[in-house]
Amino acid sequence: MIETCDSPGLLPIHTAISNMLQQISPVLESEQIELEEALGRVLAKDVVSTINVPPSDNSAMDGYAMRCKDLTDTHSLQLVGTAWAGKPFKETVLTGQCIRIMTGAVIPHGADSVVMQENTDVKGNSVIFKHIPELGNSVRKAGEDIQQGQVVVTKGTKLTPAYLALIASVGIAEISVIRLIKVGLIATGDELTLPGQPLIDGAIYESNRFALTALLNAFPVVLFDFGIVKDDKVDLKAAFEQAGNHCDLVLSCGGVSVGDADYVKQILDELGTINFWKVAIKPGKPFAFGQLRRQLGNAWFCGLPGNPVSSYVTFETLVTPVLQKLCGQTPTATPHFVAKASCLIKKRAGRADYQRGIFYRDEQGELWVKPNGKQGSGIMSSIAHANCYMVLEQQAGDVRLGESVNIQPF
Ligand code: AMP
Ligand code: MG
Repeated sequence: MIETCDSPGLLPIHTAISNMLQQISPVLESEQIELEEALGRVLAKDVVSTINVPPSDNSAMDGYAMRCKDLTDTHSLQLVGTAWAGKPFKETVLTGQCIRIMTGAVIPHGADSVVMQENTDVKGNSVIFKHIPELGNSVRKAGEDIQQGQVVVTKGTKLTPAYLALIASVGIAEISVIRLIKVGLIATGDELTLPGQPLIDGAIYESNRFALTALLNAFPVVLFDFGIVKDDKVDLKAAFEQAGNHCDLVLSCGGVSVGDADYVKQILDELGTINFWKVAIKPGKPFAFGQLRRQLGNAWFCGLPGNPVSSYVTFETLVTPVLQKLCGQTPTATPHFVAKASCLIKKRAGRADYQRGIFYRDEQGELWVKPNGKQGSGIMSSIAHANCYMVLEQQAGDVRLGESVNIQPF
């Protein structure tokens, strides 16, 4: 039984998402790749450290290392050597002695604390300590970041620059990741013209693929771009067939409404199975989800509305969870904040509204938000110049000045 909201036939966003996620299984095939190539990829296996990081106690400062308790009776110790990062002092520091030590150098036997050089004076072979350290001062302990045997990054993690450094820090140069997801992208509409070409009467420039391609690039995918396909059943069917045969997921934009030139439904009925949903989301009501049959298995299909803002918003809200599931990524919550409406925000109950807004802090540090101009589903400048979505719940009506608004920063 499909849950609908008050407006008949409209599917709440969370229901549309859970319907899709219930059907999709993650791609399990993995490949071994070099760490340099791994940004944005999803880990197929936990990464476990075989070493401590740092491997030894070492100095956090350029300064002098000694036995802390030696400085209870005297402030002056005998300088007996130097420890460099990568070139340890191999002897034991004895009572009454200290060594010069650089940041990252291993703390030698006998020493247990470091005083930064700014708090010392050197007179010939003696170092005068102007600051009496506590035991362990400025010493980075072995294993304080990562311990041997510890899981450093878990399976399902999408690798960020910091994760790459973390994996490198345990000495691992190759990792197992889920293979790239093959995504086909099709724009459909007779009026669509490639930027750079002359615009004939009644035509518009095709823009959705530029946004969708860039949005897709944030995922571990290989893109198969089928370009612009005319509102022609034969051409469109051929494109869908080809995309379905090659890809794990096919995305189309345009032609999912009920106009006379909207062929997506007819074609999908012939090539696979399709659900046409009117999702309770604004912008972006018409959305199709289904499968394209092929010899082995199926390709998933998402049909996005053609209106530029609608295709963008439905990609971010509805396609993103599909892609995350397909590529085995552990779902992550989208960060959001609460701001106060700095003016009246118009909203009709019945659909969740992803209005494009501008948030800012006033001098008192209070967070405010206001709509970024006209909110029509064809007005791409409303997104381009905005810095957040104002996410207005399905059942909410107008938001009055000073009332709370959930915002999702871009
Ligand atoms: P449709 O979903 O095909 O009914 O298209 C809805 C509106 O979006 C129409 O005004 C189309 O001209 C426009 N549109 C469709 N596809 C694109 C596209 N790829 N780029 C820019 N505008 C589009
Ligand atoms: Mg169209």
